[in-house]
Amino acid sequence: MVQQSDIPKVIQEAQERLDLVFERLSVCPDTRQRLSLPHRVVEAAIPVRMDDGSLQVFRSWRVQFDVTRGPGKGGIRFHPSVSRDEVIALSFWMAIKCAVVNLPYGGAKGGVRVDRKKLSLFELERVSRGYMRAMADVVGPDVDIPGPDMNTDELVMGWMADEYDVIKRQRSPAVITGKPVALGGSRGRTAATGEGAAQVLDLWAERQKKDNKTIKIAIQGLGNAGYYFACAAERLGFTVVAVADSSGAVYCDQGLDVPAIYAHKRKTRELKGVSAENDKHTVESLSNEELLALDVDVLALAAMENQITKDNAKDVRAKWLLEIANGPVAADADPMLQKQGVTVLPDVLVNTGGVIVSYYEWLQNRSADYWSAEQVQQRMQELIRSQAELCFELAENEDLDLRSAAYMQGIKRIAEAMDARGTHA
Ligand code: GLU
Repeated sequence: MVQQSDIPKVIQEAQERLDLVFERLSVCPDTRQRLSLPHRVVEAAIPVRMDDGSLQVFRSWRVQFDVTRGPGKGGIRFHPSVSRDEVIALSFWMAIKCAVVNLPYGGAKGGVRVDRKKLSLFELERVSRGYMRAMADVVGPDVDIPGPDMNTDELVMGWMADEYDVIKRQRSPAVITGKPVALGGSRGRTAATGEGAAQVLDLWAERQKKDNKTIKIAIQGLGNAGYYFACAAERLGFTVVAVADSSGAVYCDQGLDVPAIYAHKRKTRELKGVSAENDKHTVESLSNEELLALDVDVLALAAMENQITKDNAKDVRAKWLLEIANGPVAADADPMLQKQGVTVLPDVLVNTGGVIVSYYEWLQNRSADYWSAEQVQQRMQELIRSQAELCFELAENEDLDLRSAAYMQGIKRIAEAMDARGTHA
C-alpha cells in the first residue's frame, strides 16, 4: 500500500484534479496507486568547465513517470528554478498527454537547473553534452526519448544526439527528437505546438458554430509556441489583437502584424518600440495584467505555468481560454473560471502538436524514410483533430468540463494498458 506521505505533494495536487475522473471511470484502485509514484527518478550532477576556467556543477533530473503504454517521452527543460518535484509533475502530465492523443508512449521529463541566458554558446554545448553523458544509460529509442522543452531547442537536441552516438559508438537518431533536420529532425517540428493549438481552436470554433473571422485572440507569450500559434491562427481566419512577452504587451483592435512584431522582438529582445514600426493602425502598449483581462474572445496562454490563479481569475473576460503552455491555469483557479462561464481548452490536449510531431520524427528515424513538411502537417492535423473531437464528444456525453474529459480519455487508455499487462498481481 502506498502511504499518502510517500506521494510527492505535486502529484497529490495533480491527482486532486483527477478525483472526479477516477470516480466516473471506476478504474481498478490499483491504477490510481500505480499512478501516484513515478516509475523512476534519476538525479545527476553535471560538472562543467566554464569559459573563465572555473568549474560549475549543475543539478539535473530525468523522470520516467509511467512506461506502461510505451517508452517514456518528454522534453528537457533548462531553467534556474527547475526542481525534482517540478520534473516529476511534468512527467506525470506527459504520461496523460501522450495517452490523450493515443501516442504509443509513456510519460517522462528532464530538467537542468541552469540559466541559459548566462551561458556562452560553448558553455551551453558542454551543459547539453554533460546532460546526455549523465543520462545515456537511462534513455534510448525503446526506453525513454527526450525532446525539447523550455529554453532547449534544436541546437541543444543536436548536441545531445551527437553525444549519445559518441557514447554508444553507433548512429541512433531515434533516441531524441526535436533535432535539426540535418541530423534526422522532422520537418515541421518547430511550428508543431503552435500549429496544433490552432487546429484545436479551429475545431472548437466549428463545433460552437462560430465564424473564425469574428473571433479575436490575445496571446500571452511570444516564444516558439506563441509565435507559430499566432501565424496559424491568422491563416485560419482568426484575428490576433494582442500579444505579450515578459517585457510587456501590445494591442490593436484591428489586428496586429505578428511577423513584424516577432522580427522586432528577435532584433531587440523585447516588445517595446513595436508601435513605431507597426504603424498600419495605432498600437497601444499594455501591461501583462491588462492583457490577461482584455475583453477578447480567446485568451491563449503560451508562456509559463500558474499565470491564472485564484487572485486574477476574476479579471478574465475572454470566453475561451486556450492553454498552450503546460499548466498555465492553477488548480484553484479552475472552478472560479468555470463559475464565470469561461471554457478552458486544456493543455493536455491543446499543446500536444509538439509531442505528436516528435513521435513522427521518431517514426521517420526508425524507418529512415523522411516525410515532406506537407505530410507531417497533414498527419498531425488529422490526429490532433480526431482526438480533440473524441474529447469534445466525451465532455458533451458525460456532461464534463473539457479538462476532465481529456483526463478521462487519457487515464482510460493508461488503465487499459495496465490491466492488459496484468502487473497488478
Ligand atoms: N516539451 C514538449 C511538451 O511538453 C514536447 C516534448 C517532446 O517532444 O518530447 O509536450
